[in-house]
Amino acid sequence: MDIKDIVEKYKAEDSKFFEYIGRLVDKKVQEGKWDKGIDDESEDLTQMLIYEYATSLEKITKGKVSAKFVVDKLSSQMGKMRYGEYKKGLDEDVTYDNVPVTSKEYTEMCRVKSNFGAHAPTYMEDGKEKCAIVLFDNSQQYDYNGKPVTLTGIDLSNLSDVRGTAFHEWSHIMEKCFIKASDLKKEDIIYEEGDSTYINACLSPDLTMEEYKDYIANVDNLLQSDEEVMFGGISTIEINERKSPNRRIMHNQISEGATELLSRLVMKEVGDEVIDPTRYENKVKFVEKVFKSKGIDEAVATYVTDSRALTRELEDKKINGQSLLHYSSRHLDFLGNVEGTLARDILSKGAEPEILEDVKGKLMEFWKTHPESTIADRGVVFNEIIDSLPVELSKPARRTLVQAISYPDRDRLFKQALDREFPVKEEKPRIAEDVKGSAKRLALGRSGKDVKEVSAEVRDAYVGKEETKEEKHQVESEELE
Ligand SMILES: [Zn+2]
Repeated sequence: MDIKDIVEKYKAEDSKFFEYIGRLVDKKVQEGKWDKGIDDESEDLTQMLIYEYATSLEKITKGKVSAKFVVDKLSSQMGKMRYGEYKKGLDEDVTYDNVPVTSKEYTEMCRVKSNFGAHAPTYMEDGKEKCAIVLFDNSQQYDYNGKPVTLTGIDLSNLSDVRGTAFHEWSHIMEKCFIKASDLKKEDIIYEEGDSTYINACLSPDLTMEEYKDYIANVDNLLQSDEEVMFGGISTIEINERKSPNRRIMHNQISEGATELLSRLVMKEVGDEVIDPTRYENKVKFVEKVFKSKGIDEAVATYVTDSRALTRELEDKKINGQSLLHYSSRHLDFLGNVEGTLARDILSKGAEPEILEDVKGKLMEFWKTHPESTIADRGVVFNEIIDSLPVELSKPARRTLVQAISYPDRDRLFKQALDREFPVKEEKPRIAEDVKGSAKRLALGRSGKDVKEVSAEVRDAYVGKEETKEEKHQVESEELE
C-alpha cells in the first residue's frame, strides 16, 4: 500500500490541520492506545485516515459540522485503534462478553465462529465509556496454539478495504451522543407498543433481563439525576417476555445502515471505491431515503451530533398505527430472521443444508414472478415448499414461511409508508418505462387496493404480530457486525 504520495498531498494542501491530527495520533501512540499504521511503510496511515474522514464530513455537512469537531470526538471516544488484532500487554482492559479481547477464547468466539471483519466493543477507561476499534487482518492463518485456522478479517493490504472499514467503525463512534438526563423526557428513552417495551438509550449487552426491567422501572429517578444518558445511533433494545423471555432483542439495523452510508459518502469524497456495495444493501437504502428527504447535509450533521433527535422523529411517525422506527427495524431484520428460523428448524431435524438453498430459491422465484400474489398463489407455493421438504416444519417455522411468501406485499407497504413520510424531491424519471413505473406505484399507494386482497393471516404478517422466539438469534448475530 503506497500511502506516502497521498500524505504528501495533504501536507502540502492543509499542513496546519494535518499536523494537528499528527500530534494527537503521536500522543495516543506514545500512551500505547492507538497504532500509528500497519507497518513501517504505512506509519502515517491513522493520521491520513482521520484527516480524510474529518474533512469529508465537514464537506458532506456543508460546514454544519467542523472537521475539528469530528477529530476531537474521535480522539476523546476512541480508546483503542488497532490494525490486525488487539495487542497483548496493552489491551487486556478491553473485554467482550466478559472475555479479554487478547485471549484465544475471544479469537475463537469472534473470528472463527462469528464472522467479524472489524470490531468496536466498548469498555471503561478512567470511569468513562470508550470504544476499542480493531480492523482484523484476514491473512493471519494461525491461532494462539500455532494451529492453522481460517480467521475472519479484512484485506489490510487493500487501502479501499481499510478505508471503508475504518470509516464505518468510526461512524459507530460519531453516532453516539451523551445527553444530561435532566434534559430528557421519559419518551426519549422508553417507548411502549403492544406488549413490547423499547429502550432507546444504549445499555450494555451484558445486562440480565432483570437489570433491563429495573432500568425501565427506574427511568423516572434517572431523569431527575445528574447522570448522562448515552444513545447509540438509531438503535433500540426491545424487551418482550412473550417473544424472548430470557434475552433482550437488539435492533441495530438502522444504525448499521447509517454508519455504512456515512462510510460510503466519505469514500466518495475521498475518491475511492466501495469494495462491496451489496453489503447492508436494504439498510443503506432505507437510511439514504430518510436522509435525502431531510437533506443529506442536514441529516448527517444531526446524526453525528444528536442521533437521538432522528430516533425520536422516526418513532413519532406511524405505519399501520405502529411506530415507523420499530416497524422499520423489524422489517430490515426480516429476511435474515426468516432464514435463521427456517435454518434452525430444518437443520435441527437432520436435513442437509442444501435443502435451505432450495427453499430460498423457490421463495425468490415466487417473489419475482408474483410481485402481487393472491392468496391462492401463495397457497400453491406454500404447499409446494412443504411437500419438497424431507422433514416436517414446526408451527413457528410454518408461520415464518407464510410471512416470507408474502414478503413483496409487506415490502411494498413499507416503501409506501417511506414515500409518504419521507418524500424525496429528486431528478425526474428520464425514460418512459420509469414514468409508467412510478405512476403505478403512486396509484397503488393511494388506493391501497393491494392491501384489501390480503388475507387476515398475511395481514398479521404486515404488522409483525407473529415474530417468533427464534428470531432474536439472527438479530443477535447481525448485531455483532
Ligand atoms: Zn457496523
